[in-house]
Amino acid sequence: MAIRTILTAPDPRLKKKSQPVASVDAEVRQLMDDMLETMYDAPGIGLAAPQIGALKRVIVLDIDREDVKTGPIFMANPEIIEASDEDATYEEGCLSVPEHYSDVVRPAKVTVRYLDRDGQAKELACEGLLATCVQHEIDHLDGILFIDHISSLKRNMILRKLLKARKEQERDEAEGKPAKPKTKKKESAGAI
Ligand SMILES: [Zn+2]
Repeated sequence: MAIRTILTAPDPRLKKKSQPVASVDAEVRQLMDDMLETMYDAPGIGLAAPQIGALKRVIVLDIDREDVKTGPIFMANPEIIEASDEDATYEEGCLSVPEHYSDVVRPAKVTVRYLDRDGQAKELACEGLLATCVQHEIDHLDGILFIDHISSLKRNMILRKLLKARKEQERDEAEGKPAKPKTKKKESAGAI
């Protein structure tokens, strides 16, 4: 397994549509394992392949909260086959939109069909944080970020701040300054 670099917005690769995998072969399993290790290292509770620059329809999740403990979940070609009329609002974060959080409204319950790490077809009924996470990750496969669900005013403000932070980091690196320590992530919001 290997820890891969997580792309951050506004990277154009995050806006691309990912392609389905033909089957879950050794290469896809390797990708899944790298993604899980990268997600744990970040740390986050979900990661989609395009976030590490692989435009494949593969996601990984592991929610470990007081009320929800899923263990590692691997999904290839995930598809939402059912969504509730009822909505839920969660404050979402994203490893590709570091240090920004915003409330996003999505269906409260979804059923997702996918291939697991052994290539077996599965269906999973999701609710609560798991439902939010699965939808957030599947959005990544279609080039959609959580900031695409919020007002354009707030989205543009976040993107401007991210660009500014990146330029500052590049300038510091060019001048040989040590990297700034990462600010601690908010406890309540999951980076997914
Ligand atoms: Zn994300």
